Amino acid sequence: MTSLALFLAVVAGIFGLLIGSFLNVVAYRVPARISLMRESRCPHCDAAIKPWHNVPVFGWIALRGKCANCKAPISPRYPIVEALTGLAFAVVTWWGVAVYRGPGGETLVTHLASPQWDGVVEPARVWAYALVIVAFLYFAAISIVLTLIDLDTHRLPNSIVLPSYLVAGILFTIVAWLTDEWDLLLRAGIGMAVLYVFYFLLRSVRRGGMGGGDVKLAGVIGIYLGWLGWGALAVGAFAAFLYGGVFGIALLLLRRAGRKTAIPFGPWMILGAWTGVFAGEAVGRWYVNLFVGA
Ligand SMILES: [Zn+2]
Repeated sequence: MTSLALFLAVVAGIFGLLIGSFLNVVAYRVPARISLMRESRCPHCDAAIKPWHNVPVFGWIALRGKCANCKAPISPRYPIVEALTGLAFAVVTWWGVAVYRGPGGETLVTHLASPQWDGVVEPARVWAYALVIVAFLYFAAISIVLTLIDLDTHRLPNSIVLPSYLVAGILFTIVAWLTDEWDLLLRAGIGMAVLYVFYFLLRSVRRGGMGGGDVKLAGVIGIYLGWLGWGALAVGAFAAFLYGGVFGIALLLLRRAGRKTAIPFGPWMILGAWTGVFAGEAVGRWYVNLFVGA
C-alpha cells in the first residue's frame, strides 16, 4: 500500500511541474496586470516561445538558459520554481495518502488495506481523502505563487488571496458532508476567525509592519490549520513569528538591514503554516504531555 502512495506522489509530482510552469506565468503577469491568456513571449525580443521550449525544467535545460531567438538569458528562477512545485505536489500527495488521518484516525492507506469504519471501503470516504489532497495541493500552489509575488512586489494580491477562501471553504464543506466531520469544519471556521482577528489587531497596533494582504492571508491559513487541529493552528501561527524574528535578527546582525527595512512577512506566514501542517499535531501533543505528564 505504500507503493500506492509512492505512485500517486510521482503522478502528482509530474502534474506539479506543469502547475509550476503556470505559477511562473501568474507570478509575473498578475502584479503587472497582463492577461493570463496571452501566449508566452520572450520578455527581451518578444519572440513567441515554442511549446517544446515551454516544457517544465527540460525546456530551460535544452535551451541552456537562453532565448532560442535572441539568446538573452532566461532566469534560472523559472526551472527552479517548476521543480519546487513538482516536489511540493509529490510531498503533499504522499502526506495526504499515507499520513493525513480522516475519521476514526485512519489514513487513506490504512482505510484501503483494512477499513475499520463500518468495515468496508466507502467510495465517499475515498472521495473525501481525494478532496483533502486537492485542497492542500491548491494551498501549496498559492503558497509558492504568493511567496514569489510578495518577494517581488511586497504585495499579496486580492485576486489570489480572496478566491482562496471560497476554494478552501467549498472543498472542506464537501469533505465534512461526505464524512460527517462537521466538527472539523467548525474548527476550520474558528481557525480562520482567530488568525484573521489576531493579524488584524497586530496590524492596527503596529502600522506599517503588517500589510492588509497579510491579514487576509492569515484567514486562509487559519482555515487549513484549523481543519487539521488546534496543535497545527498554534504551531503554524507561532512558527511564522519564530522564522520571521530569527531572520530579522540575523539581518540586523549582518547589518544588511536597518530597523526600517521592509521585509515581506507573507513568506514567513506561509513557511510557518506548512510547519503547522506537517509537524503541528506532533509538536502539540509533545507540548501538552510536558504539562500533563504522559
Ligand atoms: Zn528573446
